[in-house]
Amino acid sequence: MLLPIVQYGHPVLRKTSVDITKDYEGLDKLISDMWDTMYKAEGIGLAAPQIGRNIRLFVIDATCLKDDHPEVADFKRVFLNAHITERSETLVDSAEGCLSLPGINETIKRSSWIKIRHTDVETFEEKEELIEGYCAIVVQHEYDHLDGKVFTDHLGALKKRLLKGKLSAISAGKARTHYRVTLP
Ligand code: ZN
Repeated sequence: MLLPIVQYGHPVLRKTSVDITKDYEGLDKLISDMWDTMYKAEGIGLAAPQIGRNIRLFVIDATCLKDDHPEVADFKRVFLNAHITERSETLVDSAEGCLSLPGINETIKRSSWIKIRHTDVETFEEKEELIEGYCAIVVQHEYDHLDGKVFTDHLGALKKRLLKGKLSAISAGKARTHYRVTLP
């Protein structure tokens, strides 16, 4: 089932999301709906706040970018109860966009690797892993949504000021998208 994607300016994108337990109702269906919604919108990741739920869950399928970034060749993953425990001090440039901020593409800095603790959706066992390269970039973008952040928060003051009009237009429903949206 396709879900509408929450647009910039909505308070659900600014809240800190919470962990869930095994008996969270309809988790499998929710994840399956998130995949459908992400693929239809032609995104490479989608976080639960973007479909209106403040839970620490996101899905990523970056495999379509394997020609530019060989390390994502099999990077299709679900992250549940995700917590980044360590980030590299070394930063890399990352050109990003977001389904909640249609039409905006900017280059920001991200850590080149991260360590992330999360829960396996099938076994509900916790694990921690090191993620590097382009996979780490995509994970950090989605992870930001769980902490109430969007990628433009990482821009400098001048860039932010220049984007103000575009962001207001998105909040007002003036951005063109080929997927259904939820406005603030
Ligand atoms: Zn995003």
